[in-house]
Amino acid sequence: MAIERRPPARPLLQHVAMSQFPVRAGELIVGGMSLTRLAARVGQTPFYAYDRGLLRDRVAQLRSALPAAVKLHYAMKANPMPALVCFMATLVDGVDVASAGELQVALDGGADPQEISFAGPGKRDAELRQAVAAGVLVNLESAREIRPLAAASQELGLPARVAVRVNPDFELKGSGMKMGGGPKPFGVDAEAVPALLRHIAAAGLQFEGFHLFAGSQNLRAEAICEAQRQSYALAVRLAANAPAPVRSVNLGGGFGIPYFPGESRLDLAPIGDNLAVLVERAAREVPAATLVLELGRFLVGEAGIYVCRVIDSKISRGERFVVTDGGLHHHLAATGNFGQVVRRNYPVGLGSQMTTPPSGLATVTGPLCTPLDKLAEQVPLADALIGELVVIFQSGAYGASASPERFLLHPACAQVLI
Ligand SMILES: *Cc1c(COP(=O)(O)O)cnc(C)c1O
Repeated sequence: MAIERRPPARPLLQHVAMSQFPVRAGELIVGGMSLTRLAARVGQTPFYAYDRGLLRDRVAQLRSALPAAVKLHYAMKANPMPALVCFMATLVDGVDVASAGELQVALDGGADPQEISFAGPGKRDAELRQAVAAGVLVNLESAREIRPLAAASQELGLPARVAVRVNPDFELKGSGMKMGGGPKPFGVDAEAVPALLRHIAAAGLQFEGFHLFAGSQNLRAEAICEAQRQSYALAVRLAANAPAPVRSVNLGGGFGIPYFPGESRLDLAPIGDNLAVLVERAAREVPAATLVLELGRFLVGEAGIYVCRVIDSKISRGERFVVTDGGLHHHLAATGNFGQVVRRNYPVGLGSQMTTPPSGLATVTGPLCTPLDKLAEQVPLADALIGELVVIFQSGAYGASASPERFLLHPACAQVLI
């Protein structure tokens, strides 16, 4: 019988280095403090920690790569922790909210209402009235929103500031989540916008500009540049029918961060060059307009970690399982259950053994009685001791607030900004 030849081992794809966090004597340093000390300070596991210095660095990095004329907004859907939103509001030029609840946090956090925009399909009449009272910009997602806005404006004696969210006639290539192009619940189809603009003028709303959001989690600079060029061109085309000068063109965002093996960080340089061209064109074609980018995960994702503690470490039929007190009820995205098509691993480490070579493969699970509760599957890991801290990196966005905390009634997680 012929001996079956094994195929040559494929080179294992690696995660990009989590070099944003220093390591001292094998231990992860977060906000200048060792993880062990931070865990003691927090007083419980699991918890999320967000590093102020890294948030500041990220905004500075963007500012230096992008033209100064481009405004930077924080899309707080990515992480609505009040202290973090308050801190981000001091760093960016505006905050994008997508519910009255988020609006409240942004206002409490000190964001300037003039620089808050409110998007989202299915805004209730009461939410639209709150937006008018607050004086924020409403991104219209439907003609239906015109009437309640006009009514609130009349009743309160305040202008209803609106931009039109356009569902473009193109898609963002290479995007993790497509949110524009084709049939979508978001925004108004580009071809229906001229009629909507007449309707806005007739209703007496204060028109200020256009909002386009093609998609999310894109790591290809060229695809982002292409979407920005097309979004800009579409806004200029639609501006011909606008009832007032266009004051703001929100080109969306979609900047991704590397989550999975083989992915690398987005190259900002070509995006900066591309935006410089658009800024120059805007000065001629829509001279009253400011270009705006709205970013969520790119601003906060890499600055956050999720930390849980090892409860058990066991072997089942030759495979190592590290069971922790954290899981999908706090961090749905890391378990692959938040929109991923194929389950892949977030970068994971042992907080006190960052420099210890792996001793083998392990699957890191949570305490939930469901096979979906896997924080990492078959990853190279050093021997995890019971009581040791496990860290899931790239966890500053779509973490706690995007997870079903009540599922199985385990304790809630803490969140700290350090
Ligand atoms: C979700 C969303 C964002 C933020 O997306 P990120 O991928 O976190 O940058 C921005 N704008 C709109 C309209 C969104 O729906």
